[in-house]
Amino acid sequence: MNKTKGLFDLSGKVALVTGGSRGIGKALALGLAGQGAAVVINYQSSKSHADEVVNKIKAGGGRAVAIQADVSQEDEANHLVMEAVSAMGRVDILINNAGIVIPTNAEDCTFDDWRRTMSVNLDGVFLVSRAAGRHMIERGSGSIVSVGSMSGRIVNWPFRHAAYNVSKAGVHMLTKCLATEWAEYGIRVNAIAPGYIHTELTDEVLKEHPEVVRDHWAKGAVQNRIGDTNELVSAAVYLAADSASFTTGEIITVDGGLTLR
Ligand code: NAP
Repeated sequence: MNKTKGLFDLSGKVALVTGGSRGIGKALALGLAGQGAAVVINYQSSKSHADEVVNKIKAGGGRAVAIQADVSQEDEANHLVMEAVSAMGRVDILINNAGIVIPTNAEDCTFDDWRRTMSVNLDGVFLVSRAAGRHMIERGSGSIVSVGSMSGRIVNWPFRHAAYNVSKAGVHMLTKCLATEWAEYGIRVNAIAPGYIHTELTDEVLKEHPEVVRDHWAKGAVQNRIGDTNELVSAAVYLAADSASFTTGEIITVDGGLTLR
């Protein structure tokens, strides 16, 4: 009989989750901690939310610490990884989750909004991956999981956010590039492409345009609903853990079937 017990065990591992203070990042941080990982919660401005996540992990008997950094800034991204290593001893798992969306028609999108989206969503993934990658190369092992999006595969409608879509397509390609370059160092690099998930990022639309959520977001998925943050946890844990030892450069879509048709 094949042994499956412990396949997803992360005991003794250290995970760094960018944007771990809220939404998907918070769910992934708690999920990794639930499998035994010590977790570094990165946040940009929500210190109290980040502290809540840390306290929740500690209350469950785990180890966690919160570190502030804007992942789009090179020095802050480098410092984040340095601080994480100094707080926890090392980083085995990096979850690149921090991201923003600025909905706007392409013709009205300011260059500042375009650059801001690229700098958080794509530069941020590159900068933190590069800093963590250098550390993982020295150690000869590591697992990086980035949160891409279905928007890296399709053009969302009716909301328009070309910069976001392009940034997420970039995350998917960067995932494949890093997986290829870093395989020889024992580092696996994968991504998750979520569909519409109920978080603060999507809350505003839920409140102001419930018909869009009902008629486009939910109905777009063959499961006829949007997802919950907890429904992304198993994919992240699978990719982060040794369970995915032969999986690299892969983008797992978790979207209730939205990109099927
Ligand atoms: P959210 O609720 O708005 O949370 C965003 C998180 O990112 C927060 O923790 C925020 O930190 C952090 N963050 C933003 N800019 C940052 C920066 N420059 N440096 C460090 N941290 C930063 O968003 P979410 O819905 O959970 O989305 C998380 C990820 O999933 C994003 O990459 C998003 O594109 C992706 N995604 C979301 C959906 C969805 O439907 N929700 C679908 C597909 C993909 P603070 O709290 O400190 O500001």
